[in-house]
Amino acid sequence: EKLDEGLEKSKSSFFGKLTKAVAGKSKVDDEVLDDLEEVLISSDVGVATTIKIIDRIEERVSKDKYMGTDELNQILREEIAGLLSEQEHGNYESLHIPDGIKPYVIMVVGVNGVGKTTTIGKLAQQFKNKGKKVVLGAGDTFRAAAIDQLQIWADRVDVPIVKQKMGSDPASVAFDTVQSAITQDADVVLLDTAGRLHNKVNLMNELTKIKRVMQKVTDNVPNEVLLVLDGSTGQNAFEQAKQFTAATEVTSLAVTKLDGTAKGGVVIGISDQFKVPVKYIGVGEGVDDLQIFNKFEFVDSFFN
Ligand code: GDP
Repeated sequence: EKLDEGLEKSKSSFFGKLTKAVAGKSKVDDEVLDDLEEVLISSDVGVATTIKIIDRIEERVSKDKYMGTDELNQILREEIAGLLSEQEHGNYESLHIPDGIKPYVIMVVGVNGVGKTTTIGKLAQQFKNKGKKVVLGAGDTFRAAAIDQLQIWADRVDVPIVKQKMGSDPASVAFDTVQSAITQDADVVLLDTAGRLHNKVNLMNELTKIKRVMQKVTDNVPNEVLLVLDGSTGQNAFEQAKQFTAATEVTSLAVTKLDGTAKGGVVIGISDQFKVPVKYIGVGEGVDDLQIFNKFEFVDSFFN
């Protein structure tokens, strides 16, 4: 129910607009398709993914001449779920840490303000609830506030944090964090990083260096690169996904602030365009307001 509550705004808006678009129509015609296209675009599904969806529906309409609007709903639902399912979302127990990988290092990337620190705090709590020993790494050394915020979450969740002075080398913090996690026999490392998009090459170099230095402590880390995107920022989130996936190998996404937006469609577009699975969605500021992404629940939240 929390998901439904959290997504209430996206849901009412998307579904409301959709209902309006098809109201009074007994069958799907070009006008309905035009309206639908507008609804998808204004819900931040993105142009490319919208065109893909409309094309598929057009194809089905041309075969099935008298498609009614109820059927349209059903088909939309299938098509959207289909776009999400192409990404091997399969495992909804995504908090599960594979056996034999210890510590499991999650490097968290994303630009300032998207909810990176909050997501790390929420994840730390969830891992802790599952009996995992967590260590945080304050790798965003460019802003004093970032280190302070992470410290606040470390205190709140009561997990250790590794940090250095503002301005120190993020790669050095990463090295210390992984080493400390090994010494403490920790299960999970959540490493914050600075997401400065001022320069593509710099971003790539920074992230590459952090990885390289971490790998001096132990092989094959990070095990996961989690990109945090603010779901309420629409096209900016797309642009950030583009830049980060170009700069490093992003393995999963967390989309935040879906509680406060009428534009949750961004999840569909980003998942389709970047072929990176959405693992988590943020639906509030509290520690429990992070959910494992389940595409069926997500699609239903739009259509039910
Ligand atoms: P960072 O700069 O990326 O580390 O961002 P923060 O974690 O400091 O978050 C920025 C603001 O967004 C804070 O006020 C958070 O409480 C808020 N925030 C983070 N995630 C969510 C979410 O899922 N929903 C809502 N409503 N607010 C969020």
